[in-house]
Amino acid sequence: MKSEKRSALLLTLLWLLIVPSGVVAILWNDPPGQVNSLYIALFCIAGFFSVLFPIVRNGMPVLLVMWIAVPAFLLYGLFVELVVMQVSLLAILVARRERMLQWTRYCLHSLLFFFLSIISAIAFHAAGGEVGTLQFWSLFFAAYCYQIVHTFFYQIIRGAYFTIRKRQPAFVSKSAIVESMIVLAILPFALTVYFLLQLFGIGAFFLIVIPFFIVTIITYFNDHSRKLNRHLQQAVYVGGELSAILTEKKLIDQFLVEVSEFFKTDYAYLFDHQDGWLELIRSYEQGQFVEIDFADLAAGQGMAGVVLERKQPIIYHKRNEWETVSKGYSPVEMQSVLCVPITRNQKIEAVILLASKKKFAFKDYQLKILDILCSYFTVNVEKASYLEEAIINSERCALTNVYNYRFLEERIAYETSRFNHGQIDELSVVMLDIDHFKKVNDLYGHESGNAILIGLARKLEAMLPKVGIVARYGGEEFVILLPGVSKSAASAFAEYVRSEIAGHPFTITPDLNEEKQQLDIHITLSIGVSAVPDDTDEAMALLRNADRALYIGAKQAGRNRVASYTK
Ligand code: GH3
Ligand code: MG
Ligand code: MG
Repeated sequence: MKSEKRSALLLTLLWLLIVPSGVVAILWNDPPGQVNSLYIALFCIAGFFSVLFPIVRNGMPVLLVMWIAVPAFLLYGLFVELVVMQVSLLAILVARRERMLQWTRYCLHSLLFFFLSIISAIAFHAAGGEVGTLQFWSLFFAAYCYQIVHTFFYQIIRGAYFTIRKRQPAFVSKSAIVESMIVLAILPFALTVYFLLQLFGIGAFFLIVIPFFIVTIITYFNDHSRKLNRHLQQAVYVGGELSAILTEKKLIDQFLVEVSEFFKTDYAYLFDHQDGWLELIRSYEQGQFVEIDFADLAAGQGMAGVVLERKQPIIYHKRNEWETVSKGYSPVEMQSVLCVPITRNQKIEAVILLASKKKFAFKDYQLKILDILCSYFTVNVEKASYLEEAIINSERCALTNVYNYRFLEERIAYETSRFNHGQIDELSVVMLDIDHFKKVNDLYGHESGNAILIGLARKLEAMLPKVGIVARYGGEEFVILLPGVSKSAASAFAEYVRSEIAGHPFTITPDLNEEKQQLDIHITLSIGVSAVPDDTDEAMALLRNADRALYIGAKQAGRNRVASYTK
């Protein structure tokens, strides 16, 4: 930043030294003859607007100011042309950019065009050109010499500048050639302006200057709407990509990546909105996801909080515009900010904050695009959450929330194939059944029975090893699937479960007694264990074997015990 300031200062000094004094020196040495100040004023106005609304090709402005500067030169010579050109370039300062950047851009252009004006004028005179002449062919020839020298040096100097700044791969690019062609091709317009001015005076402005200017403005806005259209198309494409993602978490990540690329941002943060509070749920900084410790924001607090309160998006162009608003964490290099509420059915669901290290990085039209992307995002989040819920419902038992029989069957098939392909060496099954559960129901009621089933499910989940899953197999029967666990380890685990549950009091509120008093009751389990490759080579027989061990080895042997399957 400091070096930027220093080079801006140096450039200003250079500019002061060369341009204003140079213009005065030229006035001194080569004063124009009689001039029409109204013409000069009109030239300056037209030039100013043609710099303000350049025709943009591939993101680079093509300056058509020459079609104004050349007639000024042909009429009155170098000094007037310099004045018209330098005044026209003031339009650069109007652009909505960082002030220092605007100023350096102005100085660079002013210096460049000052130099170009002088060498082109030399070329004009060397080619036998005469200011104010009405001899068509000699003027035509000299004017082309003027313009060729001007364009040639403009491209050379600009190419060298971009090469030094490493902003353009080729020194003389294809677009530079096309641009030069455009400028040379429109030179006849400049000559027409000149001759019409000589012939009809001020009428020439109505005949050609104003109509030409209108055409360039139409082209300018047409280019803008083309840009907007292109962005809209890209937004639709991104929307399509988002709709292919089916989980909420992945969707959030993809959304942040896509918008960061779309708007070329360095930082992206997503806040979830709940009851007037914003919680930072995901942060993406300079190409990677980061974890940030960030206190929740109330409505009105911080930039995102302000957006939530006002229900309106906000654009900040530089740091000092938001520094007093921001609360808590913000990256040191952050400058421009685009912060938008994400709404669904008129309710704010979330807030997204995009930021750039550059000042003036965001434009108003980008709000519309971001709004569209946010709509895609919310629609897809809703779809993903329905889908996730539907998947959970189809996999889980509604009462106990452990996996259901259908899921268990699928999981056994999956683990069996892993076993058959040698990815796991062992696979054990622990099947358990509550002893005399009917009595529990008879004594305390069905509701209490349910409460015990739920309590047991939670206990089993708490005891479960990381690799295992627990499923409800039937009424009061559960199965624990243990991939990669040996039969002896599974038996030891089963014994641990049995003794833990036997010692655990389950609190129920029997619906049969009137007072609804809480009661601690104890249950016991009979457990059967079976495994591959110990008991069978066929993994699908595991459940059958565990069932047999449970009924013959545990229930019939007196209950509250663990039995391993024996052939
Ligand atoms: P044991 O297993 O020791 O032989 O005796 P038991 O009384 O547990 O006998 P069994 O396994 O045959 O009976 C299961 C009982 O579990 C039948 C039913 O009343 C009860 N049960 C099954 N599903 C549910 C349920 O979802 N909720 C409640 N409360 N009870 C259930
Ligand atoms: Mg039972
Ligand atoms: Mg049973």
